[in-house]
Amino acid sequence: MESLDCVVIGAGVVGLAVARALAEAGREVVVLDKAEAIGTETSSRNSEVIHAGIYYPTGSLKAELCVEGKHRLYAYCRERGVPFLDCGKLIVATDPDQVPRLMAIRQKAADNGVPDLVPMTAAEVSRMEPAVRCEAALFSPSTGVIDSHAFMLALQGDAEAAGTMIAFHTPVLRGQVEPDGIVLEAGGEEPMTVRCRAVVNSAGLHAPRLAAAIAGVPRQTIPPQLYAKGNYFSLLGRQPFGRLIYPMPDRHGLGVHVTIDLGRQARFGPDVEWIDEIDYDVDPSRCEGFYAAVRSYWPDLPDGALTPAYSGIRPKISGPDQPAADYRIDGPEVHGIPGLVNLFGIESPGLTSALAIAERVRALIPAA
Ligand SMILES: Cc1cc2nc3c(=O)[nH]c(=O)nc-3n(C[C@H](O)[C@H](O)[C@H](O)COP(=O)(O)OP(=O)(O)OC[C@H]3O[C@@H](n4cnc5c(N)ncnc54)[C@H](O)[C@@H]3O)c2cc1C
Repeated sequence: MESLDCVVIGAGVVGLAVARALAEAGREVVVLDKAEAIGTETSSRNSEVIHAGIYYPTGSLKAELCVEGKHRLYAYCRERGVPFLDCGKLIVATDPDQVPRLMAIRQKAADNGVPDLVPMTAAEVSRMEPAVRCEAALFSPSTGVIDSHAFMLALQGDAEAAGTMIAFHTPVLRGQVEPDGIVLEAGGEEPMTVRCRAVVNSAGLHAPRLAAAIAGVPRQTIPPQLYAKGNYFSLLGRQPFGRLIYPMPDRHGLGVHVTIDLGRQARFGPDVEWIDEIDYDVDPSRCEGFYAAVRSYWPDLPDGALTPAYSGIRPKISGPDQPAADYRIDGPEVHGIPGLVNLFGIESPGLTSALAIAERVRALIPAA
């Protein structure tokens, strides 16, 4: 049986960032992915927003790794020429009752290390974004948008330049923890069994089930695998926004917001639809909810202007009636297995946090 040093399961943005960090630290790295290319799942089905790190519970991994990841990401984009737009975003209170919550968000952001939110009056917002109606707002100058595919290509390039091998069409089927490493069995065109000194389970939506397929991983350390779809609709015609516009956040998402891509096309979403099976179809009838949500801050949204675009699925590990779970970066202190890191619940802001998550994972892998 072939022996490998580090195996990363999953070539999404997080797996690629982990592979790069390990390879640049001098480790031998192989990435296994069941798909035919990098980033075919959640990493290419999101809002592509570089989040500032505003809303997450202070001290949580999401809060810490979003802020650290954002700084790392902007620096990385500049260094590697990854296209991004530091356009900023407005968080708008559309009802007088929401204004005190806006101030609480500003405080939370400051506690999280994001001290630059600027309170704005309705008149100031009108001058900045004439199409937007609100009672008051916060402007976040450090929020931006990124070309997520270019980011992943840059990570792949760095990882490969440092010696990483990526095997596509290679689904990891099961594994077993043994005294001298973790044995993984992969299927696909060239099935293989390998013994690994370290394994990083970065399988996104599939990570809990994959962990459960590795004999020896304590069951009680594996969270449920739940899915919350986020649907997007795009705007037919010219869009009037220069910045991202977000309503007040709710428990499972940031509300139906306006994002603009690097070509300044607008899209709206994502909403929250809990589903049992992975299914990316966008139900056109959900647009009714979008018209209502968007018109709360853009009353002039014309009838018939929204068209179904795409969807992404949040890898949830807590259900609709529970508080949103934090990321889980489970090393030996959680499951007792040296060399294994399970990444669970890496939902938004996982794209922003990827470079910071990678550093945490690297620190959990024992020296070669
Ligand atoms: C609707 C939505 C909007 C979002 N918006 C933002 C945003 O604006 N900003 C932000 O920062 N974050 C955002 N996110 C979060 C971000 O997209 C994710 O956190 C991030 O993409 C997760 O990357 P990943 O590498 O963990 O997972 P994935 O991209 O899902 O990659 C997992 C990989 O594992 C592979 N795989 C799975 N099982 C196996 C197996 N058994 N064997 C081999 N390979 C396997 C898959 O093929 C896949 O390539 C959003 C997420 C959603 C759903």
